Amino acid sequence: MTQDTLSPEFYRQVEKADHIVFSDFDGTITLQDSNDFLTDTLGMGYETRKGLNDEILYKKTSFRDGFQQMLDSVHTPWPECIEYLKNHIDLDTGFKDFYEWCLAHNVLVVIVSSGMKPIIHNLLVKLLNGEDNVYNQHPLEIIANDVKITDEQKQSWDIVYRDTTDFGHDKSIEIKKIINYKNSFAASKNQSHKVHYFYCGDGVSDLSAARESELLFAKSGKDLIKYCEAEKIPYTTFQSFKDIHQKVESILSGQSTIDSFNELGK
Ligand SMILES: [Mg+2]
Repeated sequence: MTQDTLSPEFYRQVEKADHIVFSDFDGTITLQDSNDFLTDTLGMGYETRKGLNDEILYKKTSFRDGFQQMLDSVHTPWPECIEYLKNHIDLDTGFKDFYEWCLAHNVLVVIVSSGMKPIIHNLLVKLLNGEDNVYNQHPLEIIANDVKITDEQKQSWDIVYRDTTDFGHDKSIEIKKIINYKNSFAASKNQSHKVHYFYCGDGVSDLSAARESELLFAKSGKDLIKYCEAEKIPYTTFQSFKDIHQKVESILSGQSTIDSFNELGK
């Protein structure tokens, strides 16, 4: 099962945080999904990948097996994949401001991804740092799969899934663990304020996380909304992190309730 790779330093951050925002990375913090982009442009191509994506969405194929097939179709060496993605993937236009607002307001942001940690780290170094070097100063915790290089020439590589589930990385496992830890810690210290938990996502990699937060932000026009409607999971939509920023700020300041943003069935 899942190894506990969460560090003691990270648990200290969880203890100190007033609220926690969990977020998917690909297609949520970034505009494009880096794994889809690799698969579409260097691997099996858009049409085949989209067919597999639908099979995952409608539970005909597991995320683990479908994603493995997509990545197996990419034969580009690992260092080239990283450079290629750094040249083609863009950050959501509202994420940097939102992240800096969270840092200033003691809201912990945690990336929970079905992608691969080295890709996410390299993209954040390139896309998030900016003049204030914010990512180097305040690195985000990245809970994701890993990668292994399978030959000495670094020509071949393979995903290393985080757990043995059909998701490869069942996001609900760590989210529950972190929420339980935070709630137990707050109770042990008699902390009276209500801790809010949010999740932001866009697609099939978020199905395992969809039920775990108090408010689920689902990206407009993407697959996660179809799943929420089919499974009757409350959600609110976003176009960019500017919307998430506005809604989170409104809830935490007491101007709006979480229920007031629910769009299920509307
Ligand atoms: Mg995604």
